[in-house]
Amino acid sequence: MSTNVILLGPPGAGKGTQAKVLVEQTSLAHVASGDLFRAALRDGTELGMLAKSYMDRGALVPDEVVINMILERIQAPDCAEGVVFDGFPRTKEQAVALEEALAKQQSSIDVVLYLGVPSDVLLRRIGGRQTCKTCGATYNRYYFPSHRPGICDACGGELYQRSDDTLETAQHRLDVYFGQTMPLIEYYQRQGILHEIDGQREIMWVTEMMLKALNQYLPTSA
Ligand code: AMP
Repeated sequence: MSTNVILLGPPGAGKGTQAKVLVEQTSLAHVASGDLFRAALRDGTELGMLAKSYMDRGALVPDEVVINMILERIQAPDCAEGVVFDGFPRTKEQAVALEEALAKQQSSIDVVLYLGVPSDVLLRRIGGRQTCKTCGATYNRYYFPSHRPGICDACGGELYQRSDDTLETAQHRLDVYFGQTMPLIEYYQRQGILHEIDGQREIMWVTEMMLKALNQYLPTSA
């Protein structure tokens, strides 16, 4: 039996940060659609080039492309005990495709952790976001700065700002979220698996709440 968790929430809600901590403390694999697209782009693949044309505009990559990529990814051995989905699903079509694929493996989504954060906070979080080129650690210029500006505390790598984290693109990504992804809140609420957590609170508090909500579904106690 595997444990499958979806982290749902707007861009900038802290899904990536929390997913990294959750996978460190459990046996689950981190599957982040945005990270997979950015890796494909770094590798110069056709998928990466295709995704870039959407990501640069803050638009969603077509469902079929994302779904194929994720369904292939979850076949990997590291996903055997379960997955923390981060940034996927983002549309009803993606949610249904995931459910159907998991059902074929006698599995399902156990819990959806929804991180709620108001828009003004999100824009500031996204605008300040910095990522390490080497190890992928994330910082925020305003809320969680690195000790030396532009340098990763963990590995000394160079920090960069994602090209889709500019104010204009971020605003568009939020609009896309409100239009296309927010309906999933009600969708999972109706299934009785939505668990809401206040994403405005400190990182450690949010992690604690997530682990508490997850605990009953984990094969080994977190
Ligand atoms: P993220 O890193 O999750 O903020 O995703 C960055 C960008 O990748 C998004 O703005 C979309 O262009 C694309 N993307 C990531 N996940 C999805 C998804 N599930 N469906 C469609 N597009 C996605």
